[in-house]
Amino acid sequence: MAKSQMLKFIDRPQAQPSKRAAQERADDFLEISRPYILAKAEEQASRCSQCGVPFCQVHCPLQNNIPDWLKLTAEGRLEEAYELSASTSTMPEICGRICPQDRLCEGNCVIEKDFGAVTIGAVEKFITDTAWEMGWVKPIQPVADRSEQSVGIIGAGPAGLTAAELLRVKGYTVHVYDRHDRAGGLLTYGIPGFKLEKPVVMRRVQRLVDAGVVFHPGFEIGRDASLDDLRARHGAILIATGVYKARAIEVPGAEGPQALEALDYLIASNRAGFGDAVADAPRFDAHGKHVVVIGGGDTAMDCVRTAVRQGAASVKCLYRRDRSNMPGSAREVMNAEEEGVEFVWLAAPAEIRARSVVAQRMRLGQAGPDGRRAPEAEPGADFETSADMVIKALGFDAEDLPGAFGAPELSVTRWGTVRVDHKTMMTAIPGVFAAGDIVRGASLVVWAVRDGRDVAPQMHRWLRETAGQQNRKAA
Ligand code: FAD
Ligand code: SF4
Ligand code: SF4
Repeated sequence: MAKSQMLKFIDRPQAQPSKRAAQERADDFLEISRPYILAKAEEQASRCSQCGVPFCQVHCPLQNNIPDWLKLTAEGRLEEAYELSASTSTMPEICGRICPQDRLCEGNCVIEKDFGAVTIGAVEKFITDTAWEMGWVKPIQPVADRSEQSVGIIGAGPAGLTAAELLRVKGYTVHVYDRHDRAGGLLTYGIPGFKLEKPVVMRRVQRLVDAGVVFHPGFEIGRDASLDDLRARHGAILIATGVYKARAIEVPGAEGPQALEALDYLIASNRAGFGDAVADAPRFDAHGKHVVVIGGGDTAMDCVRTAVRQGAASVKCLYRRDRSNMPGSAREVMNAEEEGVEFVWLAAPAEIRARSVVAQRMRLGQAGPDGRRAPEAEPGADFETSADMVIKALGFDAEDLPGAFGAPELSVTRWGTVRVDHKTMMTAIPGVFAAGDIVRGASLVVWAVRDGRDVAPQMHRWLRETAGQQNRKAA
């Protein structure tokens, strides 16, 4: 019997890809991890114990067939590994880079506790990066010609792009509308290059363009067309607009000129990375400034690390809970600390002044209904810290879509997220579907991909059922 390549976790230690030195990476916006070489990917994949019930797969939102593509990688059958990986995910190399694996697949790997998890994300990234290099990523081939029917997708983030790909494969004419000038949603303008280099996103978009998906950049529903206008053009509509209303900080000075919204700051930085002219550029440049970022989520982590790369004089992150209660990924906090960011735990802003932030010391009180201990102010424990630039990163809520789209019949929850029938993913308006953050609230890329994957067959079914009634062509 051939000797198994697997179950090598006892004598092969876990090895995540090595990171560039903090000093080196603080000078650029390139990804911080070095790619695996083939031998390393094979070695790390071979650590998998091929569980009968693979908890890694159960906890992957895409239910990726992880043990099987690890085995194929360990056996040197990379092209097959790629095909298997691509059969459940439209962007495996992107998820491999930016999923919080410690909370998903790797955090549930059975060997994690005693031996260190299999480095699933890094292997997933390696497989598909190699596939791109080797030309194994083939053009999208529609399986039928259904081009007489068209779909309109509002939002070119991971949910919209995934649905666009899968509906194009079905043969429909697909139009994607986005208010930004480039596709990708937060993959392009939110997440910084040091987590996800932009060519990785752009080659995915280009593959859709090559397949005939029609992009309408700079086209905002609510400004350039109403939802009804779009419904008149297309047999089915997908709302995949994400969530963009920044949560406010209600303290004096929060609207001052040096207080920036996190996403405005990250968009400006990403635009600069593309070589675009940035309006009001000095305001968004942290060079030489004392920067204070308020918040403890992934957006805050992206801001502090961007400020480091822009050459800030100092970067502090103020968070009202402590390290163990922060929502951001522990891995990202570690990266930020390596790069020189100072975390000020149990601190909330009380006032934003022209050159400083006055902060209130906090302590953790009783656990709330969500199980998290609520922060409460410690009386008389204020302090002041220098700040020429303050970045507000408290998270995002849904915008008022029924108002913006001129569609009061679009039913939303009390949080403003779009209400859908969870079986069909259809909204209260027939033929109008919704997916991604605009349904879930601020979430993860991998969940947006999952939603895009789930909504496409539902839209296909609707289009089949209504084909006779509405042979609408795209304008
Ligand atoms: P989005 O990616 O938000 O895309 C929505 C698109 O719709 C946008 O392009 C927008 O321009 C467009 N749009 C909105 N309204 C209109 C309109 N009226 N007309 C036309 N177009 C419109 N997740 C992770 O898994 N890992 C991470 O490391 C990570 N980091 C993040 C960092 C930041 C700074 C932020 C803000 C989020 C991060 N996330 C991360 C979350 C992740 O980016 C989102 O969950 C995901 O992008 C949601 O995908 P989506 O397709 O639903 O929406
Ligand atoms: Fe893990 Fe994300 Fe890849 Fe799933 S998609 S295997 S959760 S990295
Ligand atoms: Fe392999 Fe870990 Fe998944 Fe088990 S849980 S199949 S060891 S990756």
